[in-house]
Amino acid sequence: MDYLPVFLKLRGQRVLLVGGGAVAARKAELLCDAGAQLRVVAPQRCAELAALCERSGAEYLATRFAPEHLQGVVLAIAATNRPEINLQVSAAGQAAHVWVNAVDDASASSCLMPAIVDRAPVMVAIGTGGASPTLARRLRAQIEALLPERLGELARLAGAWRTRLQASLPRAEARQRFWENFFDSALAQGLLAGTLDAAAAAAGLERQLEQARAGASASAARGMVWLIGAGPGDPDLLTLRAQQLLQQCDVVFYDRLVPPSVLARLRRDIERVFVGKEPGHHRTTQARIHELLIEHARRGRRVVRLKGGDPMVFARGGEELSALSQAGIPVVVVPGVTAAFGAAAAVGVPLTHRGVAQSVCFVTAMGEAAAALDWRALAAPLQTVVFYMGAAQLPQIVARLVQHGAPQERHALLVERATLPDQRLIAGRLADIAAQAAAASIGAPSLLIVGDVGQFAGRLVSGLQQVADEHSD
Ligand code: SAH
Repeated sequence: MDYLPVFLKLRGQRVLLVGGGAVAARKAELLCDAGAQLRVVAPQRCAELAALCERSGAEYLATRFAPEHLQGVVLAIAATNRPEINLQVSAAGQAAHVWVNAVDDASASSCLMPAIVDRAPVMVAIGTGGASPTLARRLRAQIEALLPERLGELARLAGAWRTRLQASLPRAEARQRFWENFFDSALAQGLLAGTLDAAAAAAGLERQLEQARAGASASAARGMVWLIGAGPGDPDLLTLRAQQLLQQCDVVFYDRLVPPSVLARLRRDIERVFVGKEPGHHRTTQARIHELLIEHARRGRRVVRLKGGDPMVFARGGEELSALSQAGIPVVVVPGVTAAFGAAAAVGVPLTHRGVAQSVCFVTAMGEAAAALDWRALAAPLQTVVFYMGAAQLPQIVARLVQHGAPQERHALLVERATLPDQRLIAGRLADIAAQAAAASIGAPSLLIVGDVGQFAGRLVSGLQQVADEHSD
């Protein structure tokens, strides 16, 4: 190891910054965030740096660097675009036993600035020993995606309780077990998901502490359910929160719409249970799914119910939520990209477009319930109507729309397996869409999009297609 990572406490400490350009301004901002008292040395400075000095009360010396500027400082940053000046700062700093970082020059630096992921007070610092700042930035982007936005709030809460816990639970192992259970608990998860505020989480922590003191096992308290939308199919359309949870849970109950490529994103040892309908298998009834979710959560497990698209759109999310809340199981909902949005993006169709569609409506015309729909409203112009679960009923849907006044030439699209590698698009009109779909044997899952925005299918994104065609030549 060539460098030891440490976190510096700079609040109230004097730090020298040499340089007046954009790079210096960025460093100045970081240093001010850390509470350092800045001394900026540069013959000229950019407007951004001037404003920052003004705001933070930094000392500014409009001159070239000289070794006496190092007096009283604990750290010096050389951020000019002149390597020889950065070297001077470095040499003078090292002679004066001051840590020096020369931007973009590891050999002239006695310390390096890491790339950081900031969830203060939680900080992740990434360094490559100066080998590749670009690689460090890429790693930072990956870690950014892994860490929940509200991690800092969770850490602050734990920090505020630390002393009290030391008094309440004198044994170190007991405290460690307490915190492990707390971070796994529905409370901590609710705080991270933003469904609980800090005051409610603190009240819950108080209760958990009482239970821990009474010697109660926390494993049952840890059980909870996440109702997660997996998006329309492409695993890259999972939300960051869904991806984080898919690494942390104990068991996943998924259905037919969740493709293998999404399941591949699960941590390898997580148990997977299929609860959908598949040829040759019995369908798991909705009531049985509720039982399973409750049973596993009661055993203290972290349960994910993973559904295609968004869990609150034609997904029986409401029934699952109500069954869980009746059973007293904590639950957090994580939204997903619904099929209509996935399909619209994939075929380049704006669902609303000025002068063509002022509103968009998601509807299902399955079975008996179809008769109860307001077909006159669905047939009206200047809107986009997206039919979920409509593939099998396509001729009936079209007939009803036309019967209630929709013109035969209204655009209609069928998108099969939207966002998946084998996605197919049928673009037609109400007059011919059913015949076209039958000829192409369009199957499930597919969406029917009715409305004149259908005219744009494949047209607005044709530039991309052209690029692809050129590459395939
Ligand atoms: N909760 C889901 C909808 C479930 S209902 C969501 O928000 O998307 C099931 C219907 O969704 C399917 O019959 C089909 O109409 C539609 N659907 C889901 N995924 C799809 C996909 N990748 N391509 C086209 N339609 C899809």
